[in-house]
Amino acid sequence: MKPHPDLYLNGAWRPAEGDALIEVINPTDEQRIGHVPAATPADIDAAVRAARTALPAWSTTLPTARAAHLTALHDILTARKDEIAETVTAELGSPLPFSQAVHASLPIAVAASYAELAATHPFEEKAGTSTVHLEPIGVVGAITPWNYPLHQIVAKVAPALAAGCAVVLKPAEDTPLTAQLFAEAVHEAGVPAGVFNLVTGLGPVAGQALAEHPGIDLVSFTGSTAVGRQIGATAGAALKKVALELGGKSANVILPSADLARAVNVGVANVMSNSGQTCSAWTRMLVHSDRYEEAVALAATAAAKYGDRIGPLVNAKQRARVLSYIDKGIAEGARLVAGGTQPPRPQGYFVSPTVFADVTPDMVIAQEEIFGPVLSILRYEDEEDALRIANGTVYGLAGAVWGEEAEAVAFARRMETGQVDINGGRFNPVAPFGGYKHSGVGRELGTHGLGEFLQTKSLQF
Ligand code: NAP
Ligand code: MG
Repeated sequence: MKPHPDLYLNGAWRPAEGDALIEVINPTDEQRIGHVPAATPADIDAAVRAARTALPAWSTTLPTARAAHLTALHDILTARKDEIAETVTAELGSPLPFSQAVHASLPIAVAASYAELAATHPFEEKAGTSTVHLEPIGVVGAITPWNYPLHQIVAKVAPALAAGCAVVLKPAEDTPLTAQLFAEAVHEAGVPAGVFNLVTGLGPVAGQALAEHPGIDLVSFTGSTAVGRQIGATAGAALKKVALELGGKSANVILPSADLARAVNVGVANVMSNSGQTCSAWTRMLVHSDRYEEAVALAATAAAKYGDRIGPLVNAKQRARVLSYIDKGIAEGARLVAGGTQPPRPQGYFVSPTVFADVTPDMVIAQEEIFGPVLSILRYEDEEDALRIANGTVYGLAGAVWGEEAEAVAFARRMETGQVDINGGRFNPVAPFGGYKHSGVGRELGTHGLGEFLQTKSLQF
């Protein structure tokens, strides 16, 4: 993937207004791999105007025509799968096999799901004497993070296009090359000029200008709770719709009836994959006091095995942030049983897979999102205690329960969270994804994700 020196605006690569640049760094070796423009508010304005101009024609195309574009987009992404994986590995640092299996494959599956939904979704419903038309919400401002760079883009842009919306995308500054590759694919798929626009830039400049722009009808944001709260407030003041996918501190609840070794091993893998930079990671493992030490020993062994397979964190700032949480855990009196703050390699933003035992629910490391390869193991005495701990954070994005199935399901139904994997249930790209409580507003993926980009019009007869 050769970086573009331009923004993708109104169907073509065009220079940005100013000459500010974003340097793209490979987090594995800390080498500069390219640069992209850092857009100004004037560039955002141009992109929003292009999207507004394109909206009337695009929003009235037949859903089957939009489905054809999404099918073409899916086919192009599939053909460029290796290049996607290499680009994500270069700018995010994830090991190539993980980039292939997840960073490239998952968004391809999501693109396929929306190509199908665009063709099959009933954009019209009956309600008594009314016909309800599901119409596109308008121009979408999409702001995405770096942790699953292509997935986060496709999870917004594919349903937006399926719905008949036009989009301005501001991707994360750390992973703009994946976004440029996506823009090339959209172009190749023949999506009409102005329907999709890519504006690379900094969050507090380009991102904020996009969120505040009066020409945007919906802001769809994924990232930190702090920025999400700010975007929600700005959008609220303007009476604009928002969709927010924010942080998490999910619980992995291992009931006494569980296969302990499997629950612990899958749980550790879940936290360590993508170097712990997964909003839905099960970063709190809850184990009954009778089997607590056994679980701690299994987790320490499993984490140590990850030592040389784990990728770096995305940048120096994230590494510093994660290391400060490890220091905090030690200072709070948690017991370090794997990893720690010692750098595992002399170069790159690496952090050792880290496991803390004797973590209590009130500790900072049990409450705040760390966003690194750090697992906390907490002890519970009975099911009510486990439920109190599981629900005892401001977040509610995901979770897991292990145990006899009916028991596990009953427990999951009492969890304040948007998704729960029962006994290692696999990630499902059409299941609604999103948070309870401070983990967000709205849902992505599948028909629920499509619904975020639609509004209703009722005609009475
Ligand atoms: P972030 O600042 O929330 O970044 C997410 C996106 O929002 C990026 O495109 C960012 O641009 C943009 N942005 C930043 N400030 C903005 C503003 N004032 N107005 C509009 N857009 C803005 O997250 P981060 O700094 O990359 O990571 C910090 C923490 O957020 C992590 O440690 C983690 O806890 C959490 N996080 C969560 C997720 C998730 O999937 N839920 C993903 C990433 C991070 P820039 O790239 O220029 O900053
Ligand atoms: Mg930021």
